[in-house]
Amino acid sequence: MNPILVVGSVALDTVKTSAGFIEDGLGGSATYFSLAARYFAPILLVGVVGEDFPREHKALLRDRGIDCSGLETAAGETFRWSGKYGKDANVAKTLATHLNVFKDFRPKLDEAHRSAPVVFLANIDPELQSEVLSQMKEPALVACDTMNFWIDSKPAALKELLSKVDIFFCNEEEAEKLAKRPNPLQAAEVIASWGPSVVVVKKGEHGALMKIGSRIYIFPPYPMAEIKDPTGAGDTFAGGFLGYLASCGVYDDVGHLKRAMAYGTTMASFNVEDFSTRNIEDLDRDRIDERFHDFLDRMSVPRAEDLLKSRRPVAA
Ligand code: AMP
Repeated sequence: MNPILVVGSVALDTVKTSAGFIEDGLGGSATYFSLAARYFAPILLVGVVGEDFPREHKALLRDRGIDCSGLETAAGETFRWSGKYGKDANVAKTLATHLNVFKDFRPKLDEAHRSAPVVFLANIDPELQSEVLSQMKEPALVACDTMNFWIDSKPAALKELLSKVDIFFCNEEEAEKLAKRPNPLQAAEVIASWGPSVVVVKKGEHGALMKIGSRIYIFPPYPMAEIKDPTGAGDTFAGGFLGYLASCGVYDDVGHLKRAMAYGTTMASFNVEDFSTRNIEDLDRDRIDERFHDFLDRMSVPRAEDLLKSRRPVAA
């Protein structure tokens, strides 16, 4: 098995959506990622929480098999984020970001951390993402994510980081802002010119696209009648995507990358069905694969010659 090292925020989130409200719920980019990716590969989590971080949250991560030896507890308060979503569930309005213990966090990786073949630099200060990457031995795959907060406050550090990563994940709004382009296709083109060989742009309820070389691959979303809380959808997407690739140990094959997009979509669809991490805490591979295959089936359009072999009447 190929372990994935993830560094990113471990947070207490206060979120309001049209379906309800949650105060100080378990959140953070590294948390969502780890909970989703652990169905596919062993996870080594690197981050920091404050003394106020509830014991049961740490126990939840450990009980799910996530290696928390790199999750420090420091004097001070846990990272906190609060946001709200209006009618458009694709765009979070950040109300407050309190870095707290992340302000002075200097991660020290041990031998197992440094040897991980896959690294995910989840959304956090790009200088911290670079610091972790510089301690890694020789990872086979490096991926990262970011968000508006860092695009606005540390654009140079982010661009420097992007020259060292293989896969970059972001949402549509962030891609356009970062690349200063009016649409996701143009934005992905600019971002790819800075380094990443694969650029994944997520468009919330409108699906996602993946740019590899000169080709763009498009993916619909898994159809959901109700989205309760979109927080963490991007990180669970990355968790399904990288978890799947790590489970195969193949990182540069277009077919595997397309399947990774479908696993990312599948994991994100579970996440948005409930607040915080509730709906991704206790899934299993059978449920995940059932939805994954359903998604593949819905996406596929038969070739004319295949219609003759198997016809599927509309009404059963
Ligand atoms: P997502 O909805 O996938 O983009 O990520 C949501 C998660 O990102 C939330 O659980 C937040 O705690 C976390 N988050 C929000 N702002 C930041 C930030 N500036 N740096 C790191 N993590 C953040």
